[in-house]
Amino acid sequence: MKDITVAIDGFSSTGKSTIAKQLAKKLEYVYVDSGAMYRAVTLYAMQHQLISNTFFYKDKLISVLDIISLKFKFNTDLGFAEIYLNDINVEKEIRNIEVSEFVSKVAEISEVRRKLVEQQQQFGTNKRVVMDGRDIGTVVFPNAELKIFMNASAKKRAQRRFEELTKRGDKVTFDEILKNIEYRDYIDSTRKDSPLIKANDAIEIDNSEMTIDEQFEKIYTIVINKINSLK
Ligand code: C5P
Repeated sequence: MKDITVAIDGFSSTGKSTIAKQLAKKLEYVYVDSGAMYRAVTLYAMQHQLISNTFFYKDKLISVLDIISLKFKFNTDLGFAEIYLNDINVEKEIRNIEVSEFVSKVAEISEVRRKLVEQQQQFGTNKRVVMDGRDIGTVVFPNAELKIFMNASAKKRAQRRFEELTKRGDKVTFDEILKNIEYRDYIDSTRKDSPLIKANDAIEIDNSEMTIDEQFEKIYTIVINKINSLK
């Protein structure tokens, strides 16, 4: 089987990471959650009082980018790689609503994007990678053999994210999740550097009415057909 790169982009909470993890496991590829990297940089900025509701010291954040180390380590129990910020596992913390509130502001900064895109491209040098994000098919891997663009209604997405966060004990309301999703969609798709847009050659999947199993069946078939067509 030919080795390929699978790029999965789309709006917030469209289930990109769920399908990316499933595909990586089945194909025995590496899964990279690029959003986790933007979230970890945001967490660093929050921990160092560089961002809040009232201020954002962008230049200071840019000046410390070199000392922010991001690593992924595979967790065999979970079956995927967790993210470490300066050698501390922050996989759970970065999913908090507070991080979600600031992350799109951090992701607008070109210097941040440059640093993370470079690291993401290194993960893909040997192909056999499934990466999800907002600019994977357009900027990180413009030559990826397969590009998927995920979509679903904002309400459906907010409902799924609400269930995920309340299940793990976070105190959140459906309305704040919905607002956050709409806010991030807006900033992500209108920013100057690497906005979220569907690559011309991406296959769009709307999973509003699909179960996780149905979605996997559909996308896995697309992947296998693509790999077979390249033999
Ligand atoms: O995928 P996730 O929702 O965790 O991503 C969090 C945020 O990180 C997005 O809303 C977006 O602002 C940013 N992001 C990005 N480019 C990527 C991945 C994520 O700008 N490739």
